[in-house]
Order: sequence, then structure tokens, then C-alpha cells
Amino acid sequence: MSLRLTMRLVEQVGAISAGTSTRVVVDGPDDVETVRRWTEATGNTVLMVHPDSVEVLRGRAADPIESLPEDRRPGFRLWVYTNFHCNLNCDYCCVESSPSTDPRVIGVDAFGRLVGEAVDAGVEELFLTGGEPFMLLDLDERLRVATAALPTTVLTNAMVWNGERRRRLESLPREGLTLQISLDSATAELHDRHRGTGSFDRALAGIRTAIDLGFRVRVAATLGADAGDAETSLVRLFDRLELDEDQRVVRRVARQGSANAGLTVSRASLLPEVCVTAEGVWWHPVAAIDPTMKVCDDWFPLAGAIEKVRDEYRSHRIAGDVLASTFPCA
Ligand code: SF4
Repeated sequence: MSLRLTMRLVEQVGAISAGTSTRVVVDGPDDVETVRRWTEATGNTVLMVHPDSVEVLRGRAADPIESLPEDRRPGFRLWVYTNFHCNLNCDYCCVESSPSTDPRVIGVDAFGRLVGEAVDAGVEELFLTGGEPFMLLDLDERLRVATAALPTTVLTNAMVWNGERRRRLESLPREGLTLQISLDSATAELHDRHRGTGSFDRALAGIRTAIDLGFRVRVAATLGADAGDAETSLVRLFDRLELDEDQRVVRRVARQGSANAGLTVSRASLLPEVCVTAEGVWWHPVAAIDPTMKVCDDWFPLAGAIEKVRDEYRSHRIAGDVLASTFPCA
């Protein structure tokens, strides 16, 4: 441990009061490690690592992850983009999917390894998304691997279940598998405005097919600024479909991908949901092509990627709490 840096830490952190922070200048990863070890040994906290300094809080901060509900903690759930191509071309698709999008498929073998590492890392459930996952003719192979390991949900527009895909759908296990189907309104006009003519009727037919085949179904609506009171009529439709509360999802459009309006999201504002694509690990599935939301290039080891997300979330939250308590403007 560098004596000079340690002396500076003692001096700087000793000069501030408990619950406030100071920036300690560092020169490279070894210095950062020294600061980490010193704070750990002395009951202080690293708030944030910057390129040339480390923000150190005097005192031990409570772990913000501990205060989250268990199923909202980063790493409880793993999202996987199995592919990016889609039969539709919705105008607010958060990852710019369409029939001509580069598929960026995660192959069956890599997917199997990912699921194994997810189990080892303590992940409790899997969400598969895309693109349209059922565009992959061999999606059923991934779903069998996934459901054998963890409760699994697959997001779908429910429109490509014909021919061989229908046969493979019917062969899927019902236990541990949920089909989350997109439906944005209770009538065709709004849904078709964003997802294409005829897509409402096809999605509704898909929902009925999935229910008739004995699958657990969740229906998810994405509402833009033009949705008006669509949520009210959606609730009536959900009731008619006899969906429980945990089988209904209604969320706002995020300004990501093809969407040129909607909620602005960032690493600081979004509770992370660890997400893997063929291109790396991301902060949240709603922003899986946004370079500012990329966590790292490599999935493996997955536990390390999840820990990286947790560390950054802790830093954001603790730093935010400190700023909130020490930066009064009036
Ligand atoms: S929003 Fe869903 S259904 Fe629409 S293009 Fe994107 S992935 Fe496909």
C-alpha cells in the first residue's frame, strides 16, 4: 500500500465530517485498489471511481441494494436478447428491430453456457427477448434449456406461430414458462398505428392461441403520448381475458432506438436489470443498443458483469444521497 497515498487519505478524509465526501487524486488502478483497501479497513466508503480520482465518503454507507425488494435487486433477473430481427417494424421499437435488422443471434451452445453461469451467479429468473425470439426456428431448444434451470418468460408479438414454428410451440413445456405478449390497446386503431395494419387482430389471435394451448400468458402494453385513456379500456380487456394482476404490464415508451419521443432513461435514473446481447452486457433491456448504457463487452464471467452493475448502482445511489444531503441550493 502506497505510504504517500495512505497519508493523503488519512489527512483528507480526517479533515471532513462524517457523511460528507472528498475526492482523492489517484494515479492508476493500483492507487484505486489502495483506496479501496484503506476505506474497507478504516470503515469508510468508496463512492465513485473517476478517471483521475476516487470519491471517498467518511463513514460506512448503508448498502442501497439491501433496501430494494428482493426481486428488484440487480442480478435477480437476467434478460437475454436471443436475436434482434423481427417480423414487425414498430415505430417505437427500443432496439430498432425489423425484418432487415442484423439478427445478432445468441446460439444455442452459448445460451446454454449463459444459463449455467446465471444459475451459479444466483439469478432467479430469465427473460428472453428480441427482436422477435420466435423468429429463431430453434428457439424451442433454448427454451427447454432455460426452463429446466429457472422460471423463464419469453417476450413475443405472437404472430409467427405457424407451420414448423407452431409445431415447436406446441411441444414446449408449460411448467416454468410464461409467454409475455405485446398488445398496446383494446382496439385496433392505436395498436396498428405503431405496429402496422392488421397487427392488433394477429396479436389478439396469438394471445387466444397461447391461452388455448395451456400456456401461462402475460400481456404487456407500451403506451405513447397519443395513448389517451387506452389504459382504461385495456384493463377491461385484461378482465375479459381473465388475467391476474401479475399477468398485466403497462409501461410508457422510452426514448430509445426508433422512438423519437418518450421517457428519457439513463444509468443514473434506471434501476438496473442486467441484460445480455450478442454484443455485451447492458444496464437495462430498454436501452440495449444505447452505447451509454453498455456495461462491458464480455458476458463471461457473468457473475463479474453482474457485480459490476451492482457496484455502479451502489455508487450512483450513495453518491446521490450524499449530494442530496450536502448540496442545498436555498
Ligand atoms: S417493438 Fe417488439 S414487435 Fe415491434 S419491432 Fe420491436 S421487437 Fe418487434
